[in-house]
This record gives sequence, C-alpha cells and structure tokens, in this order.
Amino acid sequence: MAKEEDNKKVKKKSLKTKLRIMTMAPIFIMGILVAILSYYVSFESVKKEVRRNLSNIADSVALHYDMSYDGDYSAEKITESTYRFYKGETDLDKTEQSLLKYKEETGVDVTLFFYDIRMLSTLRGDSGQNIRYTIANKNVSDAVINGGHEQFYDNMIINNEKYFAVYSPLLNSDGKCVGMIGVCKPTSQIENESLGSLFWIPIVTIVVMLIGGWISIIPAKALVNAIDKEKKFLDEISKGNLNATIDKDIIERDDELGDMGRFSRGVQKFLREMIERDTLTHLYTRRIGQSKINYVQAQLNSAGVKYCVCMGDIDFFKKFNDNYGHDCGDLVLRGVASVTNEFMLGKGFAVRWGGEEFLIIFEDADLDKAYKLLSILRQRILDYVVNYNGEEIKITMTFGLVEGDMRNIDDIVKEADEMLYIGKQNGRNRIVTPREMEEILEDPEIASIREK
Ligand code: GH3
Ligand code: MG
Ligand code: MG
Repeated sequence: MAKEEDNKKVKKKSLKTKLRIMTMAPIFIMGILVAILSYYVSFESVKKEVRRNLSNIADSVALHYDMSYDGDYSAEKITESTYRFYKGETDLDKTEQSLLKYKEETGVDVTLFFYDIRMLSTLRGDSGQNIRYTIANKNVSDAVINGGHEQFYDNMIINNEKYFAVYSPLLNSDGKCVGMIGVCKPTSQIENESLGSLFWIPIVTIVVMLIGGWISIIPAKALVNAIDKEKKFLDEISKGNLNATIDKDIIERDDELGDMGRFSRGVQKFLREMIERDTLTHLYTRRIGQSKINYVQAQLNSAGVKYCVCMGDIDFFKKFNDNYGHDCGDLVLRGVASVTNEFMLGKGFAVRWGGEEFLIIFEDADLDKAYKLLSILRQRILDYVVNYNGEEIKITMTFGLVEGDMRNIDDIVKEADEMLYIGKQNGRNRIVTPREMEEILEDPEIASIREK
C-alpha cells in the first residue's frame, strides 16, 4: 500500500511541468509546421527560379544557332556509332568550343540532341570522355519531341550525378521538332548556391520558437509560483499552524487564485476562532487566554509598559439559572461577554476563565487607569438589561483588580481572585484592588461584622 503511494508520488507530474508542456507544445508543433511549410515554399521558389534560368539559357542557345547558321538541322550517319550534325551546310562539330565557352560563363551544361541522339554536349563521362552519340532518356525524348513541350526535371540522373535539367524542343524553320536542347546544372551546385540558405529556415524557426516559448512561459511561471505559495500556506494549516501567513501578493490578486488565497485565509481564521474562542460567549478560552497573558506579560514588561489583571464574576448568577432556567443563564453570560468584549476593544482582551468568571487584561494601563476603565465597564453591565420571556433582568458583577508584574501569571491571577473574594464578601457589585482591600479591612464597621 505504502509502495503504491510512493509510486503515485513519483508519477505525479508537477503543475509546473504540465503548464510548461501546455505552453510549449502548441508553439513547438506550430514551429515545426512553419519550418516545414516555409522550407517547402522556399524550395519551390528556388526550383522555379532555376527552371526559368535554364529555360532562358536553352532559348538563347537555340537563338544563337538560328542567328549564326542558316538552314535546318540534319544528321548523317558516319559509322555505326558516329554521326555528323549539320545546320544547313554547317558542320556543327566546330561549334563545340563555343558551347564549352558557354558552360564556362554560365556554369551550366548544354547538350544538343538530334532526335534522341546526343550530337554535341559539354557534359563529360566519369573518365572525362565525350558522351556524344549516346541515347537520351526515353521518357524525356518522348515528352519533348513527340509532345513538343519543354520539360523540367529536378532530379535527373546523368552519369550517376543528380541534375536540375530543362529540355526544350529543337525546331527547324518549318516549326518541326527535330531534337532537343538540354540545359542542366548539378543539384550539388544549386544546393551550394541557393538551397544551402534554406537550411537556415528551420534553424531560425527553432530559435524563434524557443525564444517565443521562453517568453510565453513567463506568465505560466508566475501562475505556478502563486499556486506554490498557496499550497505551502494550506500545507501549514493542515499541519495545524494557524498562525501561518500567506503572501500579500496572492491576497491582492484579482483572479481566481486571489479568491482561493482569501478563502484559505478565511478558513484559517474560522479554525482559529473555533479553537481559540468559547462557543457560548465567543471570548478566548482559558487555554488560549493563558498563553495570551504570558505573551502580553513578556511583551509589555520588556517594553516597560504596565498592565493589569482583573477577575470578574457575575453576582448571584446561580439564581438566574434557578429562577428562569439554564437558557436564561446562558443569555446573561452571552450578554455580559459581548458588553465586555466590545468595551475591551483597543484596551486589552477578555477570557472566559470559568463558568461565570471572566479574566480581563488591561494592556498599557497602570492600576489607576485600569480602575477607571473597569468602573465604566461595571457601569455598562449595570445598565445592561437582559430581556427573557418578558422579564427584564439586571446584572451586577464583582471585580478583583491587580497590577501585573513579572511574577508567575498564576500568582497574579490568584491575587486578583483574592480581591474578588473580598468584594464578594463585602457586598458584591464592586471593584476591589489592594488599596480597597486595605480600606475594607481597616473599616471598623466591616471589621466588626467580620469579627461576628
Ligand atoms: P456569587 O455571587 O457568589 O458568585 O454567586 P453565584 O451564584 O454567581 O455563584 P455560584 O458559584 O454559586 O454559581 C455559579 C453557577 O453558574 C453554577 C453553575 O451551574 C452556573 N454555570 C456555570 N457555567 C454555566 C453555563 O455555561 N451556563 C449556565 N447557564 N450556567 C452556568
Ligand atoms: Mg458568581
Ligand atoms: Mg463563580
């Protein structure tokens, strides 16, 4: 089972890779298509250009013979394999030199055929021999002589070498086709001159494609980074780190990733509230309260700022339960908690310490300031009315207030608890600090009551 999961992990393709493939694949395919297409189009245009050149040369050779020598083409067989080739009275053997000169100037080979027999040619065989009096390719001679049309070949094999070749009809003065003018150029030469440059097309295309791919991957990368940050944040939450922070950039995004970031943060807040807050009163629970007090103690003390700890308890709370029912007691608790919480905003915080006991921390306040603030809170609770089943219920509370210091927090809370106890003992609905405690204890009337 574990092995299976491991395998899955290995197989898992990261989003980064997937996005990379998603952005690169279309560019790559397009690039290859464009490269093939442009290579093909360029190759075709090179072919057309070569054909035009060869055809022009064939025309100019025909014109040259027509202008230079009168009469029609004819041939006379001398031996089994030799001929004499004429135009009118002129033996054309003597024009071979001018053909060779032509080759020197244009780089192309010219062959004159009488019907399908090579009569004159600048081409030479493998061992340099003249190839005259050999027979032309049958398909070529059929097409040109019988068809009467010029033919172009981009892959003509002559003497085991590849050629681009044009064959145009050789015409007598009456327009009758009596042979061919073959003009050809080795493919290797054309490749060197023009086709070579075509190889740049795929190379340039690939380079452009890579640059394009690299540019198009930038937004994908940014997207993946944002997802990565979001994933890390959720990972932290899943490990129980409810104080993890998510990158501000993600929260500020105006797209779905921004939404996801905000939702995740909402979930984190909700979970934290659920753990930290008491379900009935929404005040901090005792466990969270304790660590918050420790934190405040360390922070404020190191900064030399005073703070006060107060323990408050609802007076005769039991009677709300007894007289009106448990629900009414809950309502009273919620009411007191909300008044306290609202009042403490910006002044400190309140914790539900026990059933109807609240621990209140005044941050940045000495005993005098805390006393004044607490007096206002006590009054607010006095003014607060709980409406339950048509009854108007009034609440009073007793508070024990002490100034915090570096003592163990339990000792400080215990001291506040003692002040609260004194308050409960001496009429309730009051605030007791160490100062009040002394006054109370010095009051002869109280002392006499206590003695009794
Ligand atoms: P004192 O003025 O001396 O504090 O009197 P009291 O009646 O407020 O104190 P006591 O400790 O006798 O009673 C507290 C009662 O609070 C007892 C308990 O049933 C009740 N209580 C504790 N938690 C809850 C709660 O969550 N909801 C309700 N409705 N009652 C609660
Ligand atoms: Mg009570
Ligand atoms: Mg109590």
